[in-house]
Amino acid sequence: MMPDIGFVNGQFMPLADAVVSVEDRGFQFGDGVYEVIRTYGGRPFHLNAHLARLERSAKAIDLPCPLSPAQWAERVAEGIRLAGYRECKVYLQLTRGPAPRDHIFPTAVHPTVVMTVRELHPLSDGLRSGVSAITLPDFRWGRCDIKSIGLLANVLARQRAKDAGAFEAIFIRDGEVTEGAVSNVMIVRRGVLATSPEGERILSGVTRSLVLELARKEGLAVQERPVSEAELRGADEVFLTGTTVEVLPVNRIDGIAIGSGRPGPVVTLLAARFRNLTV
Ligand code: PLP
Repeated sequence: MMPDIGFVNGQFMPLADAVVSVEDRGFQFGDGVYEVIRTYGGRPFHLNAHLARLERSAKAIDLPCPLSPAQWAERVAEGIRLAGYRECKVYLQLTRGPAPRDHIFPTAVHPTVVMTVRELHPLSDGLRSGVSAITLPDFRWGRCDIKSIGLLANVLARQRAKDAGAFEAIFIRDGEVTEGAVSNVMIVRRGVLATSPEGERILSGVTRSLVLELARKEGLAVQERPVSEAELRGADEVFLTGTTVEVLPVNRIDGIAIGSGRPGPVVTLLAARFRNLTV
């Protein structure tokens, strides 16, 4: 067993030995894209959807993807096998590679391909019974549909959440809820589930799609449309979706209880249905 695996440009190694150049454009400019995938039962969950999104992100920044989805899938499987953990968190990153620092793309691009495979620690039962969130103005850039490695705004937002004793920061843009710093946000009001539509303001979450599909299967009314800040605060239920948070109830926002202040029936049902997809 070789725990904590790194992969740089075709080579597997212990993560501690994995390094890239200080001239890498990922390091210099945040000029790159990424994905985070987790395993259930040792198998990567909806890997194809993540790889398709990685291709979309790369295309959106004019970065040629050096590996096909099938090649990625092979390397992800190898990384998981080498790590040997029960459950893994797999991180994939693609940057525009090393070049003398200049904003303009280098003429010869040699993308840097990085993967890390680490042990996944499941969320504690304490968190699963609901978390607190804060709201913040969405001070990110205008292309949140691209899974860019430039995460400074998300980092600052999540730190502010932590400093406030909360788990997640929910972004508000022009009076509308966009998403969380690491998750998509859904609300329930009188049995109707609403969440921001796909577009440049949010990341099209893999978990978001799965949960919307589950909700429709349960016969719930689902609305993909802008959700106002007032609707968020007045919702019966609010919850987060994401690879790392799964389906996570939000009990309080900015210190004020949402609904009963405990996980409601819709999020409880959807979390159970989601759990069934993972076994
Ligand atoms: N929104 C943001 C900003 C994210 O970083 C993430 C990542 O987990 C998500 C939403 C959820 O996406 P997914 O369900 O594909 O993990």
